[in-house]
Amino acid sequence: MITKNIELAIQVLNEDNLVAIPTETVYGLAGNAFSESAVHQIFELKNRPLHNPLIVHIHSIDYLSKVAKEIPDKAYQLAKAFWPGPLTLVLNKKDTIPDVVSAQKNTVAVRVPNHPLLLELLANIDFPIAAPSANPFGSISPTSAMHVANYFGDELEIILDGGECEKGIESTIIGFDGEDPVLYRMGSISIEDIKKEIGDLQLITKNDINPEAPGMLSKHYAPKTKMYLTNHVHELIQNFNHQKIGVLLFEKNLSEQHIKHQEILSATGNLNEAAKNLYAAMHRLDHSNLDIIVAERLPDIGLGKTINDKLERASKKE
Ligand code: AMP
Ligand code: MG
Repeated sequence: MITKNIELAIQVLNEDNLVAIPTETVYGLAGNAFSESAVHQIFELKNRPLHNPLIVHIHSIDYLSKVAKEIPDKAYQLAKAFWPGPLTLVLNKKDTIPDVVSAQKNTVAVRVPNHPLLLELLANIDFPIAAPSANPFGSISPTSAMHVANYFGDELEIILDGGECEKGIESTIIGFDGEDPVLYRMGSISIEDIKKEIGDLQLITKNDINPEAPGMLSKHYAPKTKMYLTNHVHELIQNFNHQKIGVLLFEKNLSEQHIKHQEILSATGNLNEAAKNLYAAMHRLDHSNLDIIVAERLPDIGLGKTINDKLERASKKE
C-alpha cells in the first residue's frame, strides 16, 4: 500500500517488518537495524547477496556514538558539514549493530538522511533503520513510490510516499584509512564539494575495489534493455537503423526520425537537475519496449562524474 501515514509505518517497523521509505537520494527498503530478523528480510526481498553491507540511517549526529566508535575528526567535520544529507560515513562498528547489517565487517556505513517524512519517522522510533535502495539487487534504483510499487507491489505492506526524491542518486560514501578519508562510492555530493571541506582524499581505484560493495560492482543500476554509453550518440545510432532505439541525452534533442523514445536530463544543462531525473528517465526508457538504449556521456565535472559512473555501470556487459 502506498501511504503517507507515518504511524502505520512505525507500527510495521516495530513489528520487525519492512517499510519502503522516501529519502532525498532514492527510496529505501527499511527495517530495524538492531533486529537480525528484519535485516534478513531486507536481503531476502532484494535478493541481495549477504556479503553486501547495508547503510544505517540515524536521526541525528547525536546518535552516531550509539552505532560507531573511534570516530576520526574528519568524520565529524564531514558529518557537521553535510548532515542531514546524502553523505554516508563508513566507521568502526559498535556491537549494537548486528553483523548481518555490516556483512560481518567491523565497520558500519551510517548517515542522517534529509527528508522531512523520514526524519519525523526516525524521531518516533528508538532504533536506527537499515535501508539499502528499494530495488531488486542490480536493477535501477527507485526515485518515486510508484517505482517501488512496480518492483515489490504485493510483497510490501507499506510504501511511505514522500514524493519524488530531491537528489535522485545515491549518497556519496566515505570511509577512513586510519584518519585519512577514502572515497568508496561517488554519489550526490560531488568530490569537489567534499574536497572543499576536508582537502584531498584518496579515490579508490579499480584494483582496490572491494567486490563486497555493490555500489562499486561493475554491473549495477542496470535496465533490462541493452544500453550503450558514448560521447557521440548521433554517430553510434547510425549502426542501429533497423532497431527500436531510445536515447538518454544531457540537454539537447536529436532530430533523427528513427529514434523511438528520447529522454533529456536537463534542458538547461544543469547537472543537479540531470541527477534528479536520471533514474526516472531510465525507468521510462526500460518500459518503452526498445531494442537498445544509447546514453550520452555527461561533462566530467561535479555530479557529471557521478552520473557517468552510474551510466558506465548500467551499460557494462556483465
Ligand atoms: P545501497 O544502499 O543499495 O546504495 O548500498 C549500500 C552501499 O553502502 C553499498 O555500496 C555498500 O557496499 C556500502 N557499504 C555499506 N556498509 C559498508 C561498509 N561497512 N564498508 C564499505 N561499504 C559499505
Ligand atoms: Mg542500491
